Amino acid sequence: MLRRKITSVFLLYAFLIPTIAFGQTTPPTVYQAPKDVIDKIKEEGSKNSQVMQTLSYLTDVIGARLTGSPAMKRSNEWTRNQMTKWGLQNAKLEAWGPFGRGWTLKNFDAQVVAPYGIPLIAYPKAWSPSTKGAVTSEVIFFDVKTDADFDKYKGKLKDKIVLVSDLRELKIEDKPLSERLTDEQLTKLSNAPDPTAAAPRPQPAAATPEQQQQRIQGFLQGIKRANFLLQEGAAVLVDSSRIGSGGTIFVQGASVAQNIPSDITDFVALRRLILSPQQKEAEAKMLPQMTMATEDYNRLVRMIRQGEKLKMTVDIQAEYNDNDPMSYNTVAEIPGTDPKLKAEVVMLGGHMDSWHAGTGATDNAAGVAVAMEAARIIQSLGLKPRRTIRVALWSGEEQGLFGSAAYVKQHFGELKGGGSQSKPELVKGADYEKLSAYYNLDNGTGKIRGVYLQGNSAVAPLFKAWLEPFKEMGATTTTLSNTGGTDHLSYDRIGLPGFQFIQDEIEYDTRTHHSNQDVFDRIQADDMKQAATIMAAFVYQTAMMDEKIPRKVMQ
Ligand SMILES: [Zn+2]
Repeated sequence: MLRRKITSVFLLYAFLIPTIAFGQTTPPTVYQAPKDVIDKIKEEGSKNSQVMQTLSYLTDVIGARLTGSPAMKRSNEWTRNQMTKWGLQNAKLEAWGPFGRGWTLKNFDAQVVAPYGIPLIAYPKAWSPSTKGAVTSEVIFFDVKTDADFDKYKGKLKDKIVLVSDLRELKIEDKPLSERLTDEQLTKLSNAPDPTAAAPRPQPAAATPEQQQQRIQGFLQGIKRANFLLQEGAAVLVDSSRIGSGGTIFVQGASVAQNIPSDITDFVALRRLILSPQQKEAEAKMLPQMTMATEDYNRLVRMIRQGEKLKMTVDIQAEYNDNDPMSYNTVAEIPGTDPKLKAEVVMLGGHMDSWHAGTGATDNAAGVAVAMEAARIIQSLGLKPRRTIRVALWSGEEQGLFGSAAYVKQHFGELKGGGSQSKPELVKGADYEKLSAYYNLDNGTGKIRGVYLQGNSAVAPLFKAWLEPFKEMGATTTTLSNTGGTDHLSYDRIGLPGFQFIQDEIEYDTRTHHSNQDVFDRIQADDMKQAATIMAAFVYQTAMMDEKIPRKVMQ
């Protein structure tokens, strides 16, 4: 999923997405598959599961899958071929973009070499430029708190290795790293109020000019450091992992210096000017940069404060992949069999792209492997769904749900315009009326405990009935609450039923997602099997009922 603690760029991005208000519709007749079908799904999902083999190939063999990289393309092709082998049809790559360039790490070394050798836990940031060979240089702590502090460093950073984060005090870890949802937490979710009844989120343009200016100034303040360090010609930037400890580091994209006039007043114009690291033009605006484990980082800062002169050697060798600016989603189908309903589609999926320090196991090879496995279960049992079932494995999720948003726009529709005076307009695509629902999985390894209804109360009786056979497997809860940060939003945004399952947290926020520990061994096989079984049952029943899943009504 996208980072929950959003950066200023994402905050600006969020302000620019038009939103509409929804009301309720009437519930459909509750359809339930015969018990023997659900039992067969459970049996296939537990006894013949392939979910961990799929997961191992994606994580161990292909590895990190940064959007735009050859590894991402390889995972697109491998999943297409794998689903074809299982008997799914129309398996293919669908292009979206242009996204920008890929980035592949070739070599990395970083250590303190003076006053004596200190090995370090560190990782380059995605899209970081390479260093000019192995660079050995003095380490400087860039301790800037106020505007006046910048002057202290003028002319002193050229070709230096610069520590740019503050010291982060590591408190005692007094909470378990791994947690499952308690009965109390699930009850609270069940009783959550209807979010559609709450006041709609204010529209971006509804902000007063003063508020807009304030936000823009906040953003400009944030990029001031990047601009200064680029100007001063530092050799390498080093930051400290923003969260985590014990050698777990969280690493994302490189920061880019920005050329934005300080008198800019308009969000839309600002957004157009912001350079993302995957853009070719950003290369000249970035310094080589890496993230270091906080224990190591703090020690280096303390040594410098004690008056020690440190030297580090850093060698970052990465290549940009510029052959193809487009990125791809993988899709595959189990064709429907009912002459009247087979043109309609039930979708399931998750995003396949990942960050690069681990192998993107919990974020989100897990969701990909589960969605593929759910389809495999239905296919291998020869269940003959009435509607067409379509698996979609997205890319570009980590940069802003790009792959799913592009797919939804291309097939189903988009919101256009909207501002302080007017609502955005829904422009329906060719298949807007043909989608029944989309089911997403992207909250890590944790098993399914229920479903977020996204304020769609009409669907509650159905989902409650569908969870019933999975009670003893721990899935019981429906909540009207919305959940965000992942690809079901691309559907929900335009009024199509898009759902994310409620999952046990396990170590998602504390240890795995976007970290160097997001690897195969942090995945729990029993949880994966449970999730695939429930997803298969939901998708199958959605494909079998007479009606489509009810939609929220746009107001
Ligand atoms: Zn993520």
